Amino acid sequence: MHQPATEARPSLYYRYQVFAPWLPSAHPAHPAQLPSAGPPLQRSRVAVVGSGPAGMVTALELARHGVASVVLESELQVSQGSRAIVFTRRSMEILQQVGVADRITASGLPWRFGNSFYRGQRVFRMEAHTIRTTATAR
Ligand SMILES: Cc1cc2nc3c(=O)[nH]c(=O)nc-3n(C[C@H](O)[C@H](O)[C@H](O)COP(=O)(O)OP(=O)(O)OC[C@H]3O[C@@H](n4cnc5c(N)ncnc54)[C@H](O)[C@@H]3O)c2cc1C
Repeated sequence: MHQPATEARPSLYYRYQVFAPWLPSAHPAHPAQLPSAGPPLQRSRVAVVGSGPAGMVTALELARHGVASVVLESELQVSQGSRAIVFTRRSMEILQQVGVADRITASGLPWRFGNSFYRGQRVFRMEAHTIRTTATAR
C-alpha cells in the first residue's frame, strides 16, 4: 500500500507543505448518522480518486453540472518539482471549458517554443503552431 512521504520534500526553490491526513478515527460519527437523529448525513454521490489535473477537472466539471463530489488524494503534499511548465492549446481549451483558463493565464506567460539543452547542446526543440488571430490573419 502506498505510504505518502511525511517529511517535506527537499527543494531550493519551493517550500513544500505537508498537510495533516484526514483520518476517519479522528472524526467521531456525525449525530445525523445515528438512526434516531433527523435526516441522514449528506454524502457526495461521486468520489474522484486522485487530485492531479484529471481528478480536479473531473470534480470541476461535475460541479458545473450540479453534482457534488469528494476528491480523495493519497499524497500529503504537492508533487515534486514542476510538472506543468507549459500547457498545450488543447489543455487550455479544456481548462477554458471548466472556467479556470483566465485565472491560470493571468499568472502565466505565453509561449511559442521550448528548447531542451544537454551539456550546452540543444537536444530538443518544441514549437507551438502560430495562432492566426483576427488582427493578424490575412
Ligand atoms: C517531470 C514532469 C514534467 C512535466 N511537465 C509537464 C508540462 O510542462 N506540461 C504538461 O502539460 N504536462 C507535464 N507533465 C505531465 C503532467 O504532469 C501529467 O500529464 C499530469 O500530471 C497527468 O495528470 P493526471 O491527473 O492524469 O495524473 P497525476 O497528475 O499523476 O495525478 C494522479 C493523482 O492521483 C493520486 N493517486 C494515485 N493513486 C491514488 C489512490 N489509490 N488513492 C488516492 N490518490 C491516488 C496521486 O497521488 C496523484 O496526485 C510533466 C510530468 C512530469 C513527470
